[in-house]
Amino acid sequence: MQPAHDAPAHEAPAHDVLIVGAGFGGMGAAIAFKRLGIDNIAILEREDDLGGTWHVNHYPGLAVDIASVTYSYSFEPNPNWSRLFAPGPELKRYAHHVADKYDLKRHMEFQTTVDGAEWDDTARLWRVRTGDGTERTARYLVTATGFLSQPHVPDFPGIKNFQGTILHTAAWQDGFDFTGKKVAVIGTGATAVQLIPEIAERADALTVFQRTPIWVVPKIDFAIPSPVQQLFRRIPLTQRAARLVNTSLLEMLMVFGVLHFKQFKPGNKLAAGLGKAHLRSQVPDPELRRKLTPDYDFGCKRPTFSNTYFPSFTRPNVTLETSGIARLEADGILAGDGTKTEIDTLVLATGFNLWDVNFPAFEIIGREGRDLGKFWREGRFQAYEGVAVPKFPNFISLNSPYSYSGLSYFTTIEGQMKHITRLFGELRRRGRDTFEVTEAANADFLDEATRRLQSSVFYNGDCTTSRSYYFNQHGEATLLRPASTLRTLREMDSFPLSDYAFR
Ligand code: NAP
Repeated sequence: MQPAHDAPAHEAPAHDVLIVGAGFGGMGAAIAFKRLGIDNIAILEREDDLGGTWHVNHYPGLAVDIASVTYSYSFEPNPNWSRLFAPGPELKRYAHHVADKYDLKRHMEFQTTVDGAEWDDTARLWRVRTGDGTERTARYLVTATGFLSQPHVPDFPGIKNFQGTILHTAAWQDGFDFTGKKVAVIGTGATAVQLIPEIAERADALTVFQRTPIWVVPKIDFAIPSPVQQLFRRIPLTQRAARLVNTSLLEMLMVFGVLHFKQFKPGNKLAAGLGKAHLRSQVPDPELRRKLTPDYDFGCKRPTFSNTYFPSFTRPNVTLETSGIARLEADGILAGDGTKTEIDTLVLATGFNLWDVNFPAFEIIGREGRDLGKFWREGRFQAYEGVAVPKFPNFISLNSPYSYSGLSYFTTIEGQMKHITRLFGELRRRGRDTFEVTEAANADFLDEATRRLQSSVFYNGDCTTSRSYYFNQHGEATLLRPASTLRTLREMDSFPLSDYAFR
């Protein structure tokens, strides 16, 4: 006789697979399932369109910071990128193209927020609560809610009294005209680096409030001439070759500069030297240069590229403020040193909250009442192969600790698609409907990731002042998978099937 928990489940779920998030991650997962012949898929998305990051972010200056030949699905190259680093709207068009070509749109339901999900171990399905109070059931749950998807709005003293316009970069007012405006930008992350030059050109006055400087290296960018686009279209192998070259360069940066910092420190120092030389060539004032120079190692937090960021600070209408923010008033900001800057527009380029309100993006309760958010916060952040967690049967979490692999997010997605394909192929081969990663496999993966990360810049470099979102609230750098892209892809395709229990 089979044990009770192996008995066939009687309640038929509404969906085979429920995916939360219609960005590139969720779409990649859906493509993997459809290739397996699984078509009863619902993709729930809280926004009013697909594209994830590339739908939500539409601030001026938005562009990819990984060359577009690499920042795309390898199986769906796009010969139409207009530039080496495509502007944001092209990414959104690409997302629509993929959704059309792979017939994903009919699975998508927009403005549908998921509030929570609970595993029902008797019926062996997920019960998913949406914002309108309804319940959905699905045999398998996939969260594709992104890493940088919960905007961070710091609670600055007095912000409620501010009478002017407040814009967060992730909730942009299209067409907002900065002409004649007195503007403050808070934040100097990768988003601000793209946005500040755009505002500096138009605003009457711009004050940038910087807490931590960012490493910026030159951006080699150009329009892709139409003969090259035609070549990519006619002979796809040429675009594959371009992708291979670019991906290999990025890979070297990641593997040697970030993951093997301990062994290849001089390479990392060279990158910092390049950033300093770039700054020197663009900013003549030594005091301004000093303020814009990071005092943490290159790679502790995501560096960026720009040729227009540093020169913005040499314009007469732009001021860099580094003494902090004491409070906001109705018509301005009082800086830490007591100076008041009058403004009518406040731009929050303050990024996203990963570790408190994401991971996971909503309440997820697994077997025996295990709460995923509590499990990660009260214990350690962990996920087998960056996708599975013990006591969470039939659950694939795409934005997990140790899931981010390579520098392009598409590397992560395609590795996860391989994992889904192998896992669900085995499920079918065994004639089972339920999987769960074992505690032992998860513990081994965590130990190995922890061990391998010991060589990284996060633990060998000087990251103390970096305030990097790569580190969680326990001080552990648990975002990146410490492996080369090739290794990750190989492991996702060949993990021991005995790492899962099937029923
Ligand atoms: P971010 O890197 O987290 O930067 C947020 C900025 O806001 C930081 O400078 C931060 O200062 C500042 N800030 C936050 N809270 C503050 C406070 N209370 N007081 C003062 N300053 C505060 O966010 P992001 O710039 O939006 O970029 C996030 C990520 O998105 C990037 O790392 C990148 O991966 C991605 N991104 C990609 C692209 C692209 O591909 N094209 C473009 C933009 C962004 P501290 O550093 O001191 O905390």
